[in-house]
Amino acid sequence: MSMAKLKTQRAAKEYECEACREQILRGESYISYKVGFRSRYVHRRHDLPGCRPKPSERESSLVADCYAAQEDFEAGTYESVDDIESAMQEVAERFREVAQQYDDASTDENGTEWNVEAAERRDIVEAAADELDGWSPSGDSPDEARCAEHADEETAPDDCADCASEREAALAEILEDATGTVNGVELP
Ligand SMILES: [Zn+2]
Ligand SMILES: [Zn+2]
Repeated sequence: MSMAKLKTQRAAKEYECEACREQILRGESYISYKVGFRSRYVHRRHDLPGCRPKPSERESSLVADCYAAQEDFEAGTYESVDDIESAMQEVAERFREVAQQYDDASTDENGTEWNVEAAERRDIVEAAADELDGWSPSGDSPDEARCAEHADEETAPDDCADCASEREAALAEILEDATGTVNGVELP
């Protein structure tokens, strides 16, 4: 999917054209389309030059898939730094899928770039994906977290609740940093 497909059909009843706000009369030919994978909202417009959607209007919500990826990351539960890193990579992959869709929308069938706006959006989303791929956890590793009593131990004892809460705190701090990075990237 690069851009919303336009369907031309005859109006079975009256609708309002979202471009000119005039009625689409019953029996009149009109255009309908949905923007984005998950969208249920049907856009309806007159089949007239002034009312037809511009390319940017047909693809503008591609970026909604990026927001969905960010939301999924934030809603996730993580038990280890590995969990966080792989979820981050998944967000980056979803960003790259969106970038690919912008790329598809930026060129015509001969490969000539004609849609500058889509190309710019592609670059921004790609840069965001690069930023996430470049993230690595900083600060204390949860594996090395120890309570004061066990600070000098090689390994934290399994049954120490204080060591366990130190580990949790270290993981929470890394997750906070990761979430800030995921939500802080620039999107079009
Ligand atoms: Zn209209
Ligand atoms: Zn301890």
